[in-house]
Amino acid sequence: MGKPAVPIEVDDGTGVWSVDGLAMILMPRHFFVNFHRAMEEGIGRARYDAFLFDAGYRSAWTWCEKEAATHGLDGVAVFHHYMKRLSQRGWAQFDVQALNPQAGTGRVRVDHSVFVLAHEGPPAKVCHMFRGWFCGALEYVRDQAGLCGRLDASETQCAAEGAVHCSFEIGPARVS
Ligand SMILES: [Zn+2]
Repeated sequence: MGKPAVPIEVDDGTGVWSVDGLAMILMPRHFFVNFHRAMEEGIGRARYDAFLFDAGYRSAWTWCEKEAATHGLDGVAVFHHYMKRLSQRGWAQFDVQALNPQAGTGRVRVDHSVFVLAHEGPPAKVCHMFRGWFCGALEYVRDQAGLCGRLDASETQCAAEGAVHCSFEIGPARVS
């Protein structure tokens, strides 16, 4: 077993946890996954997916903006740093296999997703929460390069439906 690869700080006065200057919450995985499932069942997958995408997108953008300033990063280095930190914080192992900010495309392999590890029930694609994260981070990188246009991402295969690993494709959103 290793030790956390991210520097965790705990404020003596308030008890607030932080990593790289951003406040964090340490919680049991089962609590988070139970919350996630309850929302999905209560709201319905399609509506919940839309809410999740927006929340994840905004959070990823904010994270990238703050971390780029904290570490003096720019360009695709910001996206790679985000994937590294997510991997170090226990969400999954994220491996960027392709990334083209100009085209707004990318492919990310995901292993050991929390949603796969906690999955019970019939085979399904269960890691949709990550969609907005990829899009928010890549759109941030594109925005810094003066590029615009909304992106979308989809999980093309999931380990919870029997694939060896999960995989996400990122690309320009279809205009409807
Ligand atoms: Zn998956």
